[in-house]
Amino acid sequence: MRRSEFLTSIAALTMFDTLNLKSLERWTKDLDHSDLMPALFFGHGSPMNAIQDNVFTKTFAKIGQEIVTPQAIICVSAHWETRGTKITAMKQPRTIHDFYGFPRELSDVIYPAPGKPALAENTASLISMKEIQLDHEWGLDHGTWSVLRHVFPHAHIPVLQLSIDVNMSFAEHYALAQELKQLRKKGILVIGSGNMVHNLGMVDWKRLDEQFAFDWALEASDIMKNIILSGDNTKLLTLPHNSAAISLAIPTPEHFIPLLYIMAMTDPKDEISLFNDIPVAGSLTMTSVMLS
Ligand code: ZN
Repeated sequence: MRRSEFLTSIAALTMFDTLNLKSLERWTKDLDHSDLMPALFFGHGSPMNAIQDNVFTKTFAKIGQEIVTPQAIICVSAHWETRGTKITAMKQPRTIHDFYGFPRELSDVIYPAPGKPALAENTASLISMKEIQLDHEWGLDHGTWSVLRHVFPHAHIPVLQLSIDVNMSFAEHYALAQELKQLRKKGILVIGSGNMVHNLGMVDWKRLDEQFAFDWALEASDIMKNIILSGDNTKLLTLPHNSAAISLAIPTPEHFIPLLYIMAMTDPKDEISLFNDIPVAGSLTMTSVMLS
């Protein structure tokens, strides 16, 4: 979208006063002049990855060292589902330990990245298809910090979370994310954190740390990867009806939806690459995607 078209659509919004429009115009002015930031989908897997040094977390760290340092990060985590779409708007988000039965060491982790209230407001203003609510209650859940702790260990970059509205269809999530694509021109790193194949009910708990997949998980993984690498993202939107293997891989949508947010931000110039393309415990894959 050209800037002029963007501002026209913004101007059509109700409740948008002149002052806000002016500040938004200033904010969008340099959108045209900066390079695109990458967009990343991370397979996050077990919360234990937050405190482990393994093949997955080594790659997380490597990515943080290789990409341009972002101005801020917006994360769509599988672990924040809401009614309506929310974006965290507090100055200092708390670290949420949203899991049970893990070692104390994991519950002691704090990821003290600051928030960025102005970015929350500006991001909400970019969305024309619905109202985005500014949130002051949530924080950073483990979908976000278990990964970012490795990617940006100093926690010096502001981090916001965008929630998953449980009432939205895949196509609506995809459309909303397309409106956020322009953030990539503003030095903002958008990340999705989930898992492509994610069936906790089928996990082989005796082989929790082993890199293996059941046949259906491999089949589903191949279907998803082929779609992602083909660039025909619309096929992702009807994926749950694709096959029995996919039904097992995506028994509930929340770990898959963050992938939609990232793929919706694809630019024609992007290279699409996979990393951590490894299954674990039979019914999970850590497969992750970078657009760059
Ligand atoms: Zn998870």
